[in-house]
Amino acid sequence: MTSTSAAAAARATVYGYPRQGQNRELKKAIEGYWKGRVDADTLLSTAAGLRRDNWRQMADAGLHEVPTGDFSYYDHVLDTTVMVGAVPERHRDAVAADPLDGYFAMARGTQDVAPLEMTKWFDTNYHYLVPELGPDTVFTADSTKQVAELKEALALGSAARPVLVGPLTYLLLAKPAPGTAAGFDPLTLLDRLLPVYAEILSDLRAAGAEWVQLDEPALVQDRTPAELNAARRTYADLGVRTDRPKLLVATYFGRLGDALPVLAKAPVEGLALDFTEGAAANLEALASVGGLPGKRLVAGIVNGRNVWANDLTKSLSTLGTLLGLADRVDVSASCSLLHVPLDTAAERDIEPQLLRWLAFARQKTAEIVTLARGLARSTDAVAAELAANRAVLASRAVSPITRDPAVRARASAVTDTDARRSRPYTERASAQRSHLGLPLLPTTTIGSFPQTTEVRGARADLRGGKIDIAGYEERIRTEIRYVISFQEKAGLDVLVHGEPERNDMVQYFAEQLIGYLATQHGWVQSYGTRYVRPPILAGDISRPEPMTVRWTTYAQSLTDRPVKGMLTGPVTMLAWSFVRDDQPLGDTAEQVALALRDEVNDLEAAGTSIIQVDEPALRETLPLRAADRAPYLAWATEAFRLTTGGAEPRTQIHTHMCYAEFGDIIQAIDDLDADVISLEAARSHMQVARELAGLGYPREAGPGVYDIHSPRVPSTEEAADLLRTGLKAIPAERLWVNPDCGLKTRGWPETRASLDNLVAAARTVRGEL
Ligand code: GLN
Ligand code: ZN
Repeated sequence: MTSTSAAAAARATVYGYPRQGQNRELKKAIEGYWKGRVDADTLLSTAAGLRRDNWRQMADAGLHEVPTGDFSYYDHVLDTTVMVGAVPERHRDAVAADPLDGYFAMARGTQDVAPLEMTKWFDTNYHYLVPELGPDTVFTADSTKQVAELKEALALGSAARPVLVGPLTYLLLAKPAPGTAAGFDPLTLLDRLLPVYAEILSDLRAAGAEWVQLDEPALVQDRTPAELNAARRTYADLGVRTDRPKLLVATYFGRLGDALPVLAKAPVEGLALDFTEGAAANLEALASVGGLPGKRLVAGIVNGRNVWANDLTKSLSTLGTLLGLADRVDVSASCSLLHVPLDTAAERDIEPQLLRWLAFARQKTAEIVTLARGLARSTDAVAAELAANRAVLASRAVSPITRDPAVRARASAVTDTDARRSRPYTERASAQRSHLGLPLLPTTTIGSFPQTTEVRGARADLRGGKIDIAGYEERIRTEIRYVISFQEKAGLDVLVHGEPERNDMVQYFAEQLIGYLATQHGWVQSYGTRYVRPPILAGDISRPEPMTVRWTTYAQSLTDRPVKGMLTGPVTMLAWSFVRDDQPLGDTAEQVALALRDEVNDLEAAGTSIIQVDEPALRETLPLRAADRAPYLAWATEAFRLTTGGAEPRTQIHTHMCYAEFGDIIQAIDDLDADVISLEAARSHMQVARELAGLGYPREAGPGVYDIHSPRVPSTEEAADLLRTGLKAIPAERLWVNPDCGLKTRGWPETRASLDNLVAAARTVRGEL
């Protein structure tokens, strides 16, 4: 093996591409199908057309090998469930009757049958459908979709490589099927699953696949020795089979750690590693196992989940170091391009100089091709591209958007005291008690009220020029008047203005902060047909003027009860945006925190005595590996405290979190030093209240007593029972009564009925104290 031959062979590829099409054609076709407006044939041919467009785009850009099977009508993990025949019992009949409708029933449920549970795909904002497996699960191979899509791509003349969720990751992402005896571990099904994968691999080889990619991102998480052993067994088993294509085991979202020697030794032909996140660790680990002699290394060197132009010169140098470590080095993105928008060329509102700083899927594909060419031939062969890229990076580095001296000066003057309230919690609590005069078990909501068609219509009318800004604001005020009068009538103690002016809890603030960019078409799949357009943290962040004060003060002018101010916290502002790649996340969080701190102080100065800073994403951005968590939680809690640290002792700071499973961050919740926290708890029967109590949590808390994720109205008795359970963990002096989360996705009828019951439950339980 010589460096030159490894280089000469360098090829460009990716693991997956955005599915939706330039104008979200896929979303429209699928939703049309659900509503009966689009027939199945039209849906299937729209999808086939989008796949063809994608492969053509990739091939025209110069990719040597295109991925297949990464396309999905809903989710690739659900596709894997179908591929291995693990359809849950309750969906069998529907799938047998009509595979397409049965597939959507598994994803979305029907009147009678619950869907599969949905959860986040590693630490991304993509959500997958959780496989449900039990001791009786029988796997059967169904390679139809994979084979069909491979043939489509081959027919276009491309070298194509099917991409499958690997068997180990599939089992590690699964949960025990409902009704399974406690303690069942899906990994025990490995021996049953491997022959099914072997059959599918053989089918793909027969259909013309030279290579098949098996994605094993679960191996970048901390794994037990038993799980690592399962990884070894998986690839020993699949590897020794003869009737199979060459296997590329792909890992992404971080360093491979202990799993690297396992895969390096496995009898497979290729390994794909992340050289963006965890690059240094992967490089070192690769060198220490003596490289991958005889194997293909696919280097994920272009960030597949962020939007910045790659530093091509630096990447080429890293690729150069890799050359000595494998038989052949190919170039790719760190992960599927599913996690980035399709094409910067569609953005008309971003200035051209700024647009060049960005790379979406199409631009990343071009970068990968350039890098592969540079590696295969020489740096000279791509001299023009490298020079242009250096100019783009230089313009970004020196731009006043990137570096705002005033923001930098302010950040460097931040002291520890800024991130501390001036008085300890107990003193603040008594100041707040006398200032606010709330009853025991105070009732409140999380912030948003139903975003009705009228509210959304007002924004559409403003965009479409049907109303002017004054007309729009009048419609928002009308909505606020209604929300306030409803809450007074319902008898809630702490009111909210209802957030009708917010299109989205992150975008609303991003649009008002300097340093953020918004895209017009930068859609990224969140789940199924739901796409989001994350704003881009492009430069130093500052707040030119107050962002929420006039709405909160308007709401307060309508009532004598306290109206809570409502802000999105710094960690969530980062989590649901594309972040800068040129400074530590903590530095960006600090800038956002300083801007929000000014908002907190302005709200207080305008007479707001309760301010809520939402951090629903604190848990979800938790790093995948335990060793990385402490540094993350340190900057994250610091940013929250910097946001709220300037508030007077008598001003009550609330925070809110949802998406359950708080176990891992329970200490961090305490470290936020918020006076009150509201949390999702209704479905877990107040589990989090017990966790807080276990920690000796000294502050006030409102574990949710109303599950807002469905239109179901909780009865008074049900909410009262949850409150009684909560009281076993948290004393009445510190227990709040509220729903699990905001009400923006709910309708008014169920919201009214549910909140009436919630207030009645609080009154009932107060009477029992
Ligand atoms: N205040 C926000 C709302 O009520 C919080 C949303 C969230 O936690 N995701 O909508
Ligand atoms: Zn929430």
